[in-house]
Amino acid sequence: MAYKLFIPGPVQVSDRTYKAMAEPIVGHRSKDFTAIVEYVEPKLRELFYTKDPVYLSTSSSWGVMEGAIRNVCEKGVLNCGNGSFSDKWYDVSKRCGKNAGFLSFEWGKPVDPEALDKELSTGKYDSVTIIHNETSTGTMSDIQAISEVLKKYPDVISIVDTVSSFSALPIKKDELGIDVMITGCQKALAIPPGLSFVSVSKRALDRASKVEGRGYYFDFLEFEKNMQKFQTPSTPVISLIYALKSKIDEIFEEGLENRYARHAATNKQVREWGFEKGFKLFPEEKYGSVTLNCFDNTLKVDVPALLKDLKDNYNMVFNGGYGKLKGKTFRISNMGDETPETMKELTDNIDAILPKYIGKMA
Ligand SMILES: *Cc1c(COP(=O)(O)O)cnc(C)c1O
Repeated sequence: MAYKLFIPGPVQVSDRTYKAMAEPIVGHRSKDFTAIVEYVEPKLRELFYTKDPVYLSTSSSWGVMEGAIRNVCEKGVLNCGNGSFSDKWYDVSKRCGKNAGFLSFEWGKPVDPEALDKELSTGKYDSVTIIHNETSTGTMSDIQAISEVLKKYPDVISIVDTVSSFSALPIKKDELGIDVMITGCQKALAIPPGLSFVSVSKRALDRASKVEGRGYYFDFLEFEKNMQKFQTPSTPVISLIYALKSKIDEIFEEGLENRYARHAATNKQVREWGFEKGFKLFPEEKYGSVTLNCFDNTLKVDVPALLKDLKDNYNMVFNGGYGKLKGKTFRISNMGDETPETMKELTDNIDAILPKYIGKMA
């Protein structure tokens, strides 16, 4: 079953990370454990470019994505949707019983700052959700331009999902004025799934203190109270926190600028490979994600057959399109530990079999 993952999450996990996870378990209220949290939390703040605390949540990202809604929305939440994950956030808001508005964009288009401004100016909302990098379509919105709009609405708490872009490029939370910034461990951090991170501003904590029905497991105030002791509200996924510590060391050994440059280079390399084959990018090029390439299947490739061949004969997998884009697009991730060499291995292998499947789309 050992094959290499080039899907946009979970991504390939290194031996170094797996080894870190094998460290014996300690009690989560012990000094041994709190010392680890005390070590990783300030480094996470550096990666978030924030002075605000970063909480560790034992859940996949959806846990804190849902939790954020429950914590900061009192009056109404505006969910910006331009793909599968962001559209689902609207559904989740409604399931939480919130008064939710939906600002919808065509899949593959970014969140339009002007449309956002217009909708927020109605005064109907006290919170807003945005996905920086819509993984389903490989579309990265202009967070800088969006943040300029958000700054006009200080009473609106911003919740930004950076799940599939975090640590692959700088996203400067405090400079951008993001209140609640969320990410997960199994995308660019290349840790096995089950741990997520949320950095919460003072403003957002103040709001939470006035909101009813926050529940317990994702309550920001519980996270805050516990983080003051470098603890978590309930028993965390300790092995993944060992993996996190190892990964953080690795990130700072490589250097942030080198890490960003590596992601930019591998992304460009795959994009140029695709163009050379004759594929087009699904989103407009300037909004193409830096952590994956979502290609339009312009060559009518039988993607499922190609994927089976690649997996059976080369032990590699990429993704054949998400949700309603299945078969119409395919997605190749360059998140995590990938290098120009490993990406070339993948594209060389695809090259070896691609001609058999062109024009054979079902
Ligand atoms: C993967 C992903 C999620 C969901 O993460 P889970 O870990 O499955 O909860 C949310 N948003 C984006 C942009 C993602 O890429």
